[in-house]
Amino acid sequence: MTDGQATDGQAMRLADAKRLVVKIGSALLVDAATGAIRQDWLDALADDVAALKAAGRDVLIVSSGSIAAGRRLLGLGRGALKLEEKQAAAATGQIRLAHAYQTALARHGITVAQILVSPADTEERRRHLNARNTILQLCKLGAVPVINENDTVATAEIRYGDNDRLAARVATMVSADLLVLLSDVDGLYSADPRTDPAARHIGSVDEITPEILAMAGDAPLSAERGGLSTGGMVTKLDAARIAVGGGCAMAIALGRERHALKAFADGARATWFRPATEPLTARKRWISGALTPVGAIHVDAGAAAALSRGKSLLPAGATAVEGAFERGDAVRVLGPDGALLGKGLCAYAADDARRILGRRTAEIPDILGYDGRSELVHADDLALEGAARGRRAAVADAGGRGLE
Ligand code: GLU
Repeated sequence: MTDGQATDGQAMRLADAKRLVVKIGSALLVDAATGAIRQDWLDALADDVAALKAAGRDVLIVSSGSIAAGRRLLGLGRGALKLEEKQAAAATGQIRLAHAYQTALARHGITVAQILVSPADTEERRRHLNARNTILQLCKLGAVPVINENDTVATAEIRYGDNDRLAARVATMVSADLLVLLSDVDGLYSADPRTDPAARHIGSVDEITPEILAMAGDAPLSAERGGLSTGGMVTKLDAARIAVGGGCAMAIALGRERHALKAFADGARATWFRPATEPLTARKRWISGALTPVGAIHVDAGAAAALSRGKSLLPAGATAVEGAFERGDAVRVLGPDGALLGKGLCAYAADDARRILGRRTAEIPDILGYDGRSELVHADDLALEGAARGRRAAVADAGGRGLE
C-alpha cells in the first residue's frame, strides 16, 4: 500500500471486530427542532446493537446528546450557551439520555450501564486502568456501557470537549478492534462536498498524512451549523490518529437513517482508517494517545535515527525544550525538521531538562546536583508515530540494528 495515500475500497469489515465502540453524535440522537430524543431512531440502533451482541461481540456506546437534550428541559432556548448553562443542561439531559438507552435496550433484555468520564480518567495511568477494568467487567457481564463526558463537572480547560476523541480514547483503553463514528456525513471527502461538486469520497486511509489532514480543512464545527454537536472532521481525524495509533480500526459512517449500524455492517459507504501495523504495547498506546502533551523536546538527526532504532533519548541528543512540565508528563518529541517523531514521558521536569540539553549523561549529577535517570525519555516511555515506527521496521527488515 502506498505510503500516505488514501485508497478506495472497503478492505476491513465490521464482521472482523470482536469488540467495538460506537459513537453517536448529538445531531443524530436529538431532534434539532424540538430538542426531543429521537426514540424511534434509538430503538432501531438498539436492535442493531442487540444483533451484534447476539453474534458474540462486545458493544460499547459513546453517546453525546446530554446538553442538546437538557437545554430544552431547562428552557435554555437555542442560542449559544455559557459554560455553566451547558453544565446545567448536561446534568439534566444525561438522565434523560440514560433513560432513553435503558428503554431502547431493555426491549432486547440488555442491561445498560452509565459511565461518565473526565479527562483524568483516561489521561492518568492508574485511573485509566481502573476505568478499563470496570468497563471490561461490564462487557463480561453482558451489559452495554453507555459512556459520555462528565460535562457537569468539566471546566473549559479540563474537558475533552468533543466525544470523537473521547470515543477514541475509550476504544484504545478497552482494546477495541473497531471504533465507528456515526455521523451526519458518510466519511471523509477530498474537499467539502457541500461546496465543491468535484469532492471525492475517500474509502480508506492507510496513514493520516498532512494531505489527509488538509482534506478536513478548517470546516466550521457542527456546533456553529446546528448548535447541537461539537465535533467536525478535524476532531474525527484526531480521533482516527488516536485510534489507529492504538491498533484500533476506525470508520466514519452515515448515521442519520434508522438502522444505520446495520447498514454500515452490511457494507454502506464509509471511510475506514487502517490500524497501525505494528501494534504498541498497552502502555505505549496510552502514551501515544495522550490528549494534551504539555511540552516538546527537539532532537538532532543522530538522536532521531537512534529513536527510530528503538533507543532511548539521551540529553546529548536533545537540542531544545518547549513548555512547562513536570517529571513524568507527556511531551512531544520533534525531529530536526520539526516533524513529530512520537510522544514520551519525560524523566525530568522542563527546567531541569533545559539545563542538561546537549550534555553527556555523566555530567548530569554535577549540573543538577542530583543523580537522575540517564535518559531524558526512556525507550519504554516513548511511543513513536506510525511513520517513525515504519522506519524502525524497515531498518529491522534490512538487517539493521532495529531489533537491538
Ligand atoms: N458531551 C457532550 C454532550 O453529551 C457532547 C460533546 C460532543 O458533541 O462531542 O452533550
